[in-house]
Amino acid sequence: MPSQIVDVLRKIRQKLNVVAMPAPSLMLQFDATTNQLKQALIKLGFSDVVEVALGADLTSINEAEEFLENVATGKQPLMTTSCCPAWVRAVSLHAPNLGTYVSSTGSPMKYTGDLVKQRYPDAITVFIGPCTAKRTEGISLENVDHVLTAEELLCIFQAAEIDPKTMLDEELGTTRIPSQEGSQYCQTQNVTQAVIVAVPKASERIKSKSQELGEDLKEIQPIFISPLDKRAFKQLRQWNDDISSVPGNLIEVMCCDGGCVGGSGNISAPQTSVARLKTILPKRPLFNDIEDIENL
Ligand code: SF4
Repeated sequence: MPSQIVDVLRKIRQKLNVVAMPAPSLMLQFDATTNQLKQALIKLGFSDVVEVALGADLTSINEAEEFLENVATGKQPLMTTSCCPAWVRAVSLHAPNLGTYVSSTGSPMKYTGDLVKQRYPDAITVFIGPCTAKRTEGISLENVDHVLTAEELLCIFQAAEIDPKTMLDEELGTTRIPSQEGSQYCQTQNVTQAVIVAVPKASERIKSKSQELGEDLKEIQPIFISPLDKRAFKQLRQWNDDISSVPGNLIEVMCCDGGCVGGSGNISAPQTSVARLKTILPKRPLFNDIEDIENL
């Protein structure tokens, strides 16, 4: 999938309304605070910066709702996550029985693109993330126009002589601050954790639609797979041949080791990213403290 650097820079130069959508993993790639990174993107020419962690909150609640309606009620035996496009493609090709249980919930990138276009109908949306699999996903999404990797962003910053860590450490203030749960999506196990946290809100939402879930609801029993290596694939194929042997009902799969912090388009070591994540989380609200997760 060819790089879209030139397309993005051309649109910035034309002074179009180009909005950057940095993935949770992207916020951890530079030796700079999240505020400084956003300021650097504005200096580069983006008109706004909307963190994809905001859209992740919608993934969490929608996936929790889907789990409650379909798996907790026993309509289907399990569900598997959909936010890693490499996994979605792999399971459809190599484990099609499991593939039928891929969540139909959109990824954080999808919901963030939708939110940005709602606010700025003329926006050119640019997701900046950890891998080229996300570029393939972006092409299929109506509200995502371009996808760059962290590596590509670093090249652009260097060419423009912008060093994020020299920028002002000041919030842009154009959106709410993303939740801790959404900000952690880039690390294995955290998508499931966010879905578990979202269950009470999802349950209220279902009730508000006058839908009844019934009694004896099954709780989430997670299974985590990261990386999707040869051994994990062998296991998944066995489960594919006998769905009743799966020892859980929510399979979270992230193809890269440790999750998106291990993505091939990143510029920082996963351990460095995880250490940076620990420093930003205390400054962010909890999912359940946010009243309006459906808006930026
Ligand atoms: S886990 Fe890896 S392949 Fe999957 S979305 Fe994240 S970086 Fe991309």
